[in-house]
This record gives sequence, structure tokens and C-alpha cells, in this order.
Amino acid sequence: MSLADKDRIFTNVYGFQPWNLESARKRGDWDNTKDLMARGQDQIIEDIKASGLRGRGGAGFPTGMKWSFMPKEPKPGKPSFLLINADESEPGSCKDREIIRHDPHKLIEGALIAGFAMRARAAYIYIRGEFIYEAKVLFAAVEEAYAAGLLGKNAAGSGYDFDVFVHRGAGAYICGEETAQIESLEGKKGQPRLKPPFPAGAGLWGCPTTVNNVESIAVAPTILRRGAEWFSSIGREGNKGTKLFQISGHVNKPCVVEEEMGISFRELIERHCGGIRGGWDNLLAVIPGGSSVPLVPAAQIMDAPMDFDGLKALGSGLGTAAVIVMDKSTDIVRAISRLSYFYKHESCGQCTPCREGTGWMWRVMERLRTGEASIGEIDMLHDVTKQVEGHTICALGDAAAWPIQGLIRHFRPEIERRINERSGDLAVAAE
Ligand code: NAD
Ligand code: SF4
Repeated sequence: MSLADKDRIFTNVYGFQPWNLESARKRGDWDNTKDLMARGQDQIIEDIKASGLRGRGGAGFPTGMKWSFMPKEPKPGKPSFLLINADESEPGSCKDREIIRHDPHKLIEGALIAGFAMRARAAYIYIRGEFIYEAKVLFAAVEEAYAAGLLGKNAAGSGYDFDVFVHRGAGAYICGEETAQIESLEGKKGQPRLKPPFPAGAGLWGCPTTVNNVESIAVAPTILRRGAEWFSSIGREGNKGTKLFQISGHVNKPCVVEEEMGISFRELIERHCGGIRGGWDNLLAVIPGGSSVPLVPAAQIMDAPMDFDGLKALGSGLGTAAVIVMDKSTDIVRAISRLSYFYKHESCGQCTPCREGTGWMWRVMERLRTGEASIGEIDMLHDVTKQVEGHTICALGDAAAWPIQGLIRHFRPEIERRINERSGDLAVAAE
């Protein structure tokens, strides 16, 4: 099960061709966009629903359904907006960056079509502040699209007026959370809002807003051009289409690659990464979906289907499909402790279980790392993760809890070994 070249959407993911409009047109972008839009707003949403596309930002919410939540008749003074989340900050994730660098017109054309389908007045693309080169490319590509009449009044000759604005973030991980991003775009401190209301009900400046990931929007024009059946013929039930995987860590050739949803981990690595560093026997564990999902030990991941349901069945998740591979040279307790520090650092501090819990969890993780903790602290830490999980305003609390739960579930003997070894060393020293 792997993707045929003819089914690739991102044919310029490595930037072998220029990103510009002329080159993008040769790749098929902006081809008869007006005709795609002429199908009508409801039909476009139906087509995206039928394709089975699920959100590519990590949560996997059905994209067509999300678009259908937007009002069919925006109220006066309450225009609708599309907000494209390009604040890619999940440790391990780097696919949206590649799309923007090498294929920005897929995103801009997708913005017009998706915005039109949900009757939006404009799209905002919120791009991660550190993506300096990518922001330059994006600004230039948007300018090209305006100059060619593809955006603005009568966009692409469709009779629909549509604007695209690019906004640069300022380096906070939490601004990738959709409601924190809305707050940030409104000029406020980036802190998540309680949901509901979801953004389709009350988003940017209280107006109906849909927040979509870059990849979700960038694939939409190709789905409409090639047909919902084509997209849904790839992958398996509930997990359709192609996906950009970003493989980092201890493989021979780390890469970003578009593959069929549900490809097995083994095939993904063999086909595109030249295998595991030191061979398959050297694999220790994998974080398959960016740092917010629990790790999976080697024996369980080898033949797992890399999709939403396949990884959920292993107690983990596809997330952003940022596959972090760790071989046996990895200090796994230290690795997870470092992630704990990341979440402590990035917590916005708004709710107590996250503000206090992330710091608390990191400090105990450090005690486990050095072996200074007692055996009883392992269960206590696990209890704390359970008290954080599901008790916070946004998913950052869960994201901080899950990697630790995964570590304890799969590597308890290693944690205990450290503690026992250290207390043994202390006993010898005391003799
Ligand atoms: P979520 O499940 O709360 O929401 C997913 C989307 O579906 C949102 O747009 C939300 O508004 C919508 N939604 C969910 N339920 C709805 C309902 N009942 N009605 C209307 N809309 C509804 O998840 P989330 O907090 O947006 O995202 C969490 C995920 O983000 C994690 O799984 C993680 O993998 C990922 N993540 C990605 C990055 C990145 O850099 N791309 C960074 C951090 C986390
Ligand atoms: Fe802020 Fe953490 Fe609460 Fe999210 S869970 S709102 S990041 S304090």
C-alpha cells in the first residue's frame, strides 16, 4: 500500500521547480478555477465531504462538515472569514512550511475556493513568525495572484470578490491553537477561548470563522479537479486520501514525503528514509504524530497503519504525521522530560491545571531522569497527568500529559531501573 506518482498532489514538495505563478500553472494550479467555483458553494462542500478529507492540522475533524457549519446567509455587519493556520509549531512538524515554500499557489487557490464555498469575505493566513523566508514567498505569491486577477474583485473571473491577507505571528506555540490565534489576530494576547462557541458561531471579531490547516486547504483544489471519488479511493474507510509525512530522528534519510494514508510504518521508512539507523533491531520507539501524541514502542509500530484510526488503536494518534524516530541510543526518559519542559514553557498560564501541572510534571520528570525520584512517584506522576488531561481550556494540557502517560505505559521498567540503580549507588557509597 503506497502512493503512485500519478496520485501525488504536492508535485513540487522538494522545490525542484520554482514556486511562482508561471510554474504553478504548469503544475495545474489555477486551471479553470472559475469552473470549479461555478459548481456552486453547496456542491463544493458536498464534494469535500464525499472525498473523506479530514483536517490535516492534527485533530482530523472532517473538513467538509466544518465548512458546512458556516452560515449560508451571513448577517449584515457579520461577514464570514476563513482563517488558515500556518503557525506550524508542533515539535517534529514541518510540512506546512514546505507547502508554503514550494507550492504557495496551491494554498492561495485553495483559500479562494474554500472561502467561496463557506461564503467568506476574506482569508487570513496566520504564518509562524520564525518562517521568515516562507512569509516572503507567501507575500510575493499573494501579490502575484492579485496582479493576475486571481484575487480581489471578481477573483479568477468568478464574479466573487475575495481578499487574502497574510499575518505574521510572533513566536508563541499557543497561537497555533485556533481560538488563541483568533485572539492574536484581533491584536490581543494569544490565549485560547473556551469552546463552545466554536469559531463558526463566533470567531474573528465575533464573526463566523472557519480555521483550517494549510495542508487541508492546499489539497482542496486538486480534490475538486480530480474528483471526490479519486481522493476517497486512496487510503481506507475513515482515513482517506494522501498525507504529507515528516520523518525525523534516527532514520538514514529524514524527509517530508506525500504518501497514502494507512501506509505501514515499515514501508514508509523503507521506501523513503533508507531504513532505521543501525537496522530495524536498533529501533526503540516512535512518536508518530508530533510531540502531542504518546510514543509507541518498536514492536507495536512496525506494521501499524499510519492513519488516524490505526494509531488511535495503539493509544497514540496521527496528529500532524510528524514521525519522530528514536533508536536505542536515545535516553527515552530524558527525551520525554525535554518535551515536558517545552509544554511548561509554552503554557499560556490561563488555567490552573495546565499552568501549575506542566511545571509540576516537568520537575518530577527531571527527578525520574536523574533517578532521584522514589518508585512511588511514578504512579503519583501518572495520577497528576490524569488530573490535567481533560481539565483545561485547550488541548495543550492533554498534549503535556499524554507523552508522559505513554512513557510510563511502555517504559516503566526503564524508569524503575534508573531509580533502583541510583539508590543502589547511594547505598554502596554509604558503606
Ligand atoms: P479539536 O478536536 O478541539 O478541534 C478540531 C477542529 O474541529 C477545530 O477547528 C474545532 O473548532 C472543530 N470542532 C471540534 N468539535 C466541534 C464541534 N462540536 N462543532 C464545531 N466544530 C468543532 O482539536 P484542536 O485543539 O483544534 O487541535 C488539537 C490537535 O492539534 C492535536 O491533535 C495536535 O495534533 C494538533 N496540533 C498541531 C500543531 C501544529 O503545529 N500543526 C500544534 C499543536 C497541536
Ligand atoms: Fe493556556 Fe494551558 Fe489552559 Fe491552554 S491548557 S488555555 S495553554 S493554561
